[in-house]
Amino acid sequence: MQFKDIVGQRDIVNRLTSVIDSGRVSHAQMVLGDASVAMPVALAYLQYLCCEHPVHHEGGELRADACGECPSCKKLASLMHPDLHLIFPNPPNGSSSVSAADYQPQYRDFLLERHAAGSIDDWHAFLGTDIKTLMIRERDAAHIVEVLNMKPYEGGWRMLIVWKPTRMNSAAANELLKTLEEPLPQTIILLVDDTDEGLLATIKSRVQTLRLQPVAAVRSQAERDLFGPLLVGWLRLLFKLKMKELAAQVDKLAALNREQQKFFMQYASGVMRECFLSNAAGLPCNLGSGDERFDAQFPKMITVNNIETIDTIFDDALYAIDRNANAKIAFMELSFRMSKALKKR
Ligand SMILES: [Zn+2]
Repeated sequence: MQFKDIVGQRDIVNRLTSVIDSGRVSHAQMVLGDASVAMPVALAYLQYLCCEHPVHHEGGELRADACGECPSCKKLASLMHPDLHLIFPNPPNGSSSVSAADYQPQYRDFLLERHAAGSIDDWHAFLGTDIKTLMIRERDAAHIVEVLNMKPYEGGWRMLIVWKPTRMNSAAANELLKTLEEPLPQTIILLVDDTDEGLLATIKSRVQTLRLQPVAAVRSQAERDLFGPLLVGWLRLLFKLKMKELAAQVDKLAALNREQQKFFMQYASGVMRECFLSNAAGLPCNLGSGDERFDAQFPKMITVNNIETIDTIFDDALYAIDRNANAKIAFMELSFRMSKALKKR
């Protein structure tokens, strides 16, 4: 995961990278934010920390990022770095010897498949069993102590991510507290959650909290900047349906990461609703295309005759992306169906 893959959070990310650059890394931090962004930020943070050739952009919106190419980046991106340890809520089991360690392969698959943006409900569904009590238990805490006392394989940082620490039982919380009280050298612990409610005050006081912006607020600005031009470019091509150009635009959309693909669809679907409403009310709708004629003409294409079909088309595309369908096929199908729907105004 690189910072460039994260929607918004630019100020926070720039502060993080400058702290890392200055070598003042805090050994225990809590990354507090929506599920769709907290884990991605935590993973991008560790990747930057360990990157062998971090990249700096003079005056760019994002001032620094991991290279994405070095061996360390590749190992962290595939979650196969031997010094990255993950603790997360896992199912109850009669045997005390079973712990989060035994669910590592599934949890890694879950993170990779969802671009680290899954919620606890998604994890529950991913495991596909009837589990009501996903928890972090004493056995998991014992595992924390064990892994943190091992020598780092790669000679660099030992990294521990505790996902959903608010789901620790008290025995596990006390064990973690001990680890936080006696920090080990070259060790970084990141607690990742969407809330710190119910977390021991003694734990909270020992971690530096990094509060991310709510995703809804981030989206509005990031969406306009990133998705506005993509959307207008795509809509123009739907009229002419020039295959070569459309395929190139679909490639651009499919190159976004999964979360961004979903945001794009939600954004586009929201803009279609706006067009419909302004058209129905006889008001202008500014698409921000930079072309007055297009801005004036396009909303007229969205009427009572096709708005429901358009809603369904976007819902279907979102569903496909959510189920990991091939992005190019999903965007191409979306394009054909939209092109057809626009003719039925
Ligand atoms: Zn790198």
